[in-house]
Amino acid sequence: SSRLSSRLQAVQPSPTIAMTRLAAQLRRDGKDIIGLSQGEPDFDTPVHIRQAAAAAIEAGQTRYTDVDGTPELKAAIVEKFRRENGLSYETNQISVGTGGKQVLYNALLATLDEGDEVIVPAPYWVSYPDMVRLAGGVPVTVSCPEEDDFLLTAPALRAAITPRTKWVILNSPSNPTGMGYSAAHLRALADVLLEFPHVLVMTDDMYEHLRYDGWEFATIAQVEPKLMERVLTCNGVSKAFSMTGWRIGYAGGPADIIKAMATLQSQSTSNPSSVSQAAALAALTGPMEFLAERNEIFRQRRDLCLSALNQIEGLSCVRPNGAFYLFPSCAGMIGRTRPDGRRIETDTDFVMYLVEEAGVAAVPGSAFGLAPYFRISFATDTERLRTACERIRAASARLT
Ligand code: PLP
Repeated sequence: SSRLSSRLQAVQPSPTIAMTRLAAQLRRDGKDIIGLSQGEPDFDTPVHIRQAAAAAIEAGQTRYTDVDGTPELKAAIVEKFRRENGLSYETNQISVGTGGKQVLYNALLATLDEGDEVIVPAPYWVSYPDMVRLAGGVPVTVSCPEEDDFLLTAPALRAAITPRTKWVILNSPSNPTGMGYSAAHLRALADVLLEFPHVLVMTDDMYEHLRYDGWEFATIAQVEPKLMERVLTCNGVSKAFSMTGWRIGYAGGPADIIKAMATLQSQSTSNPSSVSQAAALAALTGPMEFLAERNEIFRQRRDLCLSALNQIEGLSCVRPNGAFYLFPSCAGMIGRTRPDGRRIETDTDFVMYLVEEAGVAAVPGSAFGLAPYFRISFATDTERLRTACERIRAASARLT
C-alpha cells in the first residue's frame, strides 16, 4: 500500500507549475522557449515597497508577529476595504496569510467537513478543486461556457445548490479567462443566494486592480450587504503590486470564520513573514499611480495578442475585462494533423504541439476544467509576445 495519504493521492500537482517545469527542461536541452504559462507580472515590486521592507529589517521587525497579521497591516486592510470596496470590517474580521493561496486554503480547511460540497464555476483557477479535496470536501464544478463569458449565471448557481453546499467560489476578474462579474450580474447571483442561507460565498478578488477599458470592478458583499455575514472577501498584494514572491494575502469576513482560520494558522505556519507584512503595509497605504501606468501597458499587450491570435485560422478569443490572461478556443485545431503525422485530439495535444514545435509554453483549458481552450499569460514583454504569437501562427499553419 502507498505511503501517501488517500487525501493527497486525490490531488494533482498544479498543471501550470508542471508546464513551467517542462519549459525549463526544454530550455536546459537548448531549446528557445517563450514561457507564457506562468501567472506572474514581469514588473518589479515598486521601489517604495522595497524600501519599506529594507527599513523594517533595519528597525528590527524580524520577530514573530500576531499570528494572522500585525495590527498595523490589519488596520490598513480595513481601510482598503472601506476606501476601495465600500465594505466595513473591524480588525477582528481580517486575516492575513502567506499568500492568497494560504488564506483560501485556511478558510476551506477551517469550515469543510467530510463530504461538504463547494461549487466551483469552470473554468476555474487550478487550485480550487484540489484545495477542496485536500480539506475533505467535494468540488462541484459548474461549466460556464463562452456564450456566458465563462461566468456563472444565476440559474446555473441555483441548479448547483444542494443541502450539502457549504461554499460557492467566485473569482473576478478570473484566472484563466480574465472575465469579471459586473455589479448587475452579482446582484442576480445575490438574489439566488438570499434564498439559500446555508451557503457561504468565497470571492477571490486577487485581480481587482488589473482591469481594462473602464470596466468597473464590484464585489458581492458590497452589492448585497445582507450577505456580509456569509461572504469571505479574499484579496492580496501578489498580482497588483508585483509581489508574488513576498507571499502576503488577506481576507475580510465573519469573525467566527476569521478566528478559526487564525487557530489553524497558529498550529501550522504561524504569522506570515514580518518583513513581507511591512512591505504589504507600504503597498496598501502608499502611492497607487503606478497601477494605472502598468494597466495601460498590460492593455496594450492584451490588444496585441488578442488581434494576433484572432487572425489565426482555427483560434478565437474573447476580449477579457481584467487580469493578464487570454483564454482562446482551439476548437478549430482539433482533428488536424501535425507534420510528424500525429493528430491533435485535445487541447492538451495542441498545447504540447505549441511547446514542442513553436517553443511557446501555454496551459491547456482542460487543466482549468473547460476544453478545448488554452491559457496564455500576457504578463511578459511586448517583443516576446509578438514573437510568441508569430510562432503560434506559423506552427498552426503547418497543421493540415
Ligand atoms: N487566486 C487566484 C485567482 C490566483 O490566480 C492566484 C495566483 O495565481 C492566487 C489566488 C494566489 O495568489 P498568491 O500568490 O498570493 O498566493
